[in-house]
Amino acid sequence: MTATGRAVSTILDVLPASVIRRAARRYLGGATVFEAMDVARSLAAQGMPVTLAVVGEAAATPEYADQHVRELLTVTDAVAGTELDVRLGVKLTGLGLVFDPELARAHLLVIADAAAAAGCVVEVDMEQARYVDHTLGTVRAARRTMSNVEAVVQAELYRTASDVRGLIAGHIPARVVKGAYKEGRAHAYGRPEVIRDSYLDVVRQFLEAGVHVGVATHDEYLIYHVLRMAEELGVSSDAYEFQMLKGIEEDLRAALVRSGHPVRVTVNFGADAHKWALRRLKENPEVVRHMLTSIRQ
Ligand SMILES: Cc1cc2nc3c(=O)[nH]c(=O)nc-3n(C[C@H](O)[C@H](O)[C@H](O)COP(=O)(O)OP(=O)(O)OC[C@H]3O[C@@H](n4cnc5c(N)ncnc54)[C@H](O)[C@@H]3O)c2cc1C
Repeated sequence: MTATGRAVSTILDVLPASVIRRAARRYLGGATVFEAMDVARSLAAQGMPVTLAVVGEAAATPEYADQHVRELLTVTDAVAGTELDVRLGVKLTGLGLVFDPELARAHLLVIADAAAAAGCVVEVDMEQARYVDHTLGTVRAARRTMSNVEAVVQAELYRTASDVRGLIAGHIPARVVKGAYKEGRAHAYGRPEVIRDSYLDVVRQFLEAGVHVGVATHDEYLIYHVLRMAEELGVSSDAYEFQMLKGIEEDLRAALVRSGHPVRVTVNFGADAHKWALRRLKENPEVVRHMLTSIRQ
């Protein structure tokens, strides 16, 4: 951990839990699916569909993975019969990928089936570089029978340009992200400007191929250039959507919606959401700066 990271960790350890809870509320969708659905309804009223993600740990046992599947199915149950545009964000490590990739595949199919019945798309998050082969393989396998399963690619990875060609050849839509895991030189570009170039190249490949792409970023440089690119290529706004995490860059998000651009908000929720958020806060001093600002407001 860096010196700033250690300082941030110390601040978080001395802040009362109630203060952290209040501040984290801005970034989370609550502890239960009912609270998350309230957030979904409120965002829908502001013109924004959502992706709901149940936060959890990587499953170390079949029992934990089963429990996580049950939590995900509460979302499809809650969405079924509503008019809401809700996607489901799923991490294969939560479904057992670490100890049994076949189990994770089977669980994903169960979730995709329930999601299809509820009218939902399932987005399979991309995790550490060591899981990319399994994750993309699982998405491709699921797509043979379920057209509502989509992929995620990380612009920071060297391999992504070639992975994207494979996804496009299979007409598999994807969310593009910079990449949240510290992968190092063996796998990933390190310079922010190179990651941005890679990000824009990947988005261009999807737009040119006419395969739907989720532009998941809060980086206004990328958003500006994707808008210019869409204009230059003459693609309509149903070819892509911006995606942002709840509570982050809300002014930019609102400006995009006002200008008629599609924006989806990812809402993380769950019984362990506060514990999970606290760990993420300790990892990311930038979020803590936002959090401390929001406590003052
Ligand atoms: C919808 C969505 C889904 C994602 N899914 C995945 C995934 O499946 N796999 C994966 O590896 N990564 C995922 N990520 C994370 C992504 O890889 C980046 O780590 C993250 O989005 C930060 O990069 P950025 O493009 O927003 O640009 P940055 O340059 O990091 O951020 C731009 C601006 O946004 C603000 N900001 C960014 N993130 C935060 C934050 N957490 N809290 C407060 N402020 C912030 C910063 O202040 C900065 O000014 C996802 C991100 C989004 C938005």
